[in-house]
Amino acid sequence: MKDLYGCIKIVSLDYEVNVKWTEKMQTVRKIKIVNLRREVLKVSLWGDPAKNFDCKAIQEMPQSVFAVITSLRITMYKNELIASGGDHTCIILNPDIDEKEEYKAKFSEVEDKMEIVKPNVSEKPNENNTKTVSQLYELNPKSCKDDAIYCKASIVGFLIQNGWWYKGCTLPNCFKILKKNDNNELACIEHDTDTGDKYLPCYRVSMMIDDGSDETTITLMGKQAEQLFGCNCEELVNKLSLRHNKLYQKQLRTPLVKNMYLK
Ligand SMILES: [Zn+2]
Repeated sequence: MKDLYGCIKIVSLDYEVNVKWTEKMQTVRKIKIVNLRREVLKVSLWGDPAKNFDCKAIQEMPQSVFAVITSLRITMYKNELIASGGDHTCIILNPDIDEKEEYKAKFSEVEDKMEIVKPNVSEKPNENNTKTVSQLYELNPKSCKDDAIYCKASIVGFLIQNGWWYKGCTLPNCFKILKKNDNNELACIEHDTDTGDKYLPCYRVSMMIDDGSDETTITLMGKQAEQLFGCNCEELVNKLSLRHNKLYQKQLRTPLVKNMYLK
């Protein structure tokens, strides 16, 4: 666990995320803090620190907000450092530490004031954009490719015979699958570069869903799979290999009977 300090530049409004792995709704709030070199670190607050963060009061403060955020877990994700804090995390505003004056001087401009943004989450399901599984078959994928369409269904089984993740390219924002090249080495099909032994585990989880009207097979990748399992693919793969723990694999084989919205 790490304590970090910096100037808070951007704070999102809090929002609820349904973490299926823990079967609980969790409040999340995203923050961006910058250091004196203007390097940005994204921080995700979960639970009470996300709920209790009084961004209205902070925004009324006259100058930029210098803060220490404690007990953060730092992970590397998609070649980017990400910090996340849970119930043990505290946010101390304008703490009396040596760096305070330096930060005050550096971030004294109007544009250094904290900005509150809407969370980057899609619109909520409503009557018009929610379909049953059998209605999904009637949709033309081309004509609705830019629309958010929701389907409330139960996951009735995972199809893991072909695995549930793949070895992805480690270059930023690529995520293309790595394939063996002529030299029998893993290489990105897009960048055609040999990545050595390095790869980024990426979710590709196939599952059967059923809503009573019909059933179908879907594949979750990226953020949607992260939301389902409550962590990124690299973390889950590491958990499995580090602990030699069959529990997660067992849970993957166990059908979830909870309903979830699938976009
Ligand atoms: Zn690539």
